[in-house]
Amino acid sequence: MDSDLLHRLVAQHAETSRLMGVDFVPVYRTSSDQSVVAPPMAHLVPALLEVKPSSAPRADADQPKPSREDSQRALDELLARYVADAPHKHFVTAHTNIVFGDGNPCADLMFIGEAPGEEEDRQGKPFVGRSGQLLDKMIVAMSLSRAEVYIANVLKTRPPNNATPTTEEARLCSPYLFEQIRIIAPKALVTLGLPATRLLLGTTEAMGKLRGRWHEFVDPSGRVVPVMPTYHPAYLLRNYTAEERAKVWSDLKQVMDRLGLKSSPDKQ
Ligand code: URA
Repeated sequence: MDSDLLHRLVAQHAETSRLMGVDFVPVYRTSSDQSVVAPPMAHLVPALLEVKPSSAPRADADQPKPSREDSQRALDELLARYVADAPHKHFVTAHTNIVFGDGNPCADLMFIGEAPGEEEDRQGKPFVGRSGQLLDKMIVAMSLSRAEVYIANVLKTRPPNNATPTTEEARLCSPYLFEQIRIIAPKALVTLGLPATRLLLGTTEAMGKLRGRWHEFVDPSGRVVPVMPTYHPAYLLRNYTAEERAKVWSDLKQVMDRLGLKSSPDKQ
């Protein structure tokens, strides 16, 4: 077996164990006595322990996916679990709605952002504000539509003053995002900005070093998913130069190549 893959699996399992571990248990409460109960997503631990790295399928290997209905049902159940667990009760939020995710539950391509902003919180949908309008253009330029991809965030609730998620906030919410990825089973992931990139890749490297080349994420079932980090649309809006736009477009073109997508002439 590829030693890199083994290393990543061990690191991710160690991280998952940490997520499920003793430091995580005391903060959760029962509905009856408000004392300690199991951490969220504890039901997934047996499945995680059963992963056989040597047989881990690759995301771009052609594999049958569950039906759209089954995937949507699994996502709905995951959302219900998120609502019941409410990991965001352990940090400060400014939310009125939970923004869980949006799009095709069987998408080949999944985008992962940071956290909902004001407009996303209002509508309960990710990337519907200014950044979302730019993301929509990026998706169309890839010859896809928003309905064909799936869009999610690291945090499902709006942070106060649109603050960047802390590592701890990302850690608390990560099991739900990782499960979303497992259910959707995309052929490729695009992480938008540093929080999503760092969470999925388990690194603290700078965006400039990470973007523009393929990385891998091992989902909770042990499936290896290629990850292309790129700049967050909000960064691009702040730095709307030909040079920065070209970097993002070159990242997206690599994704298109991998997925066998062709851009139409007017989109280049
Ligand atoms: N920025 C994000 O990272 N996510 C959203 O949903 C909106 C803006």
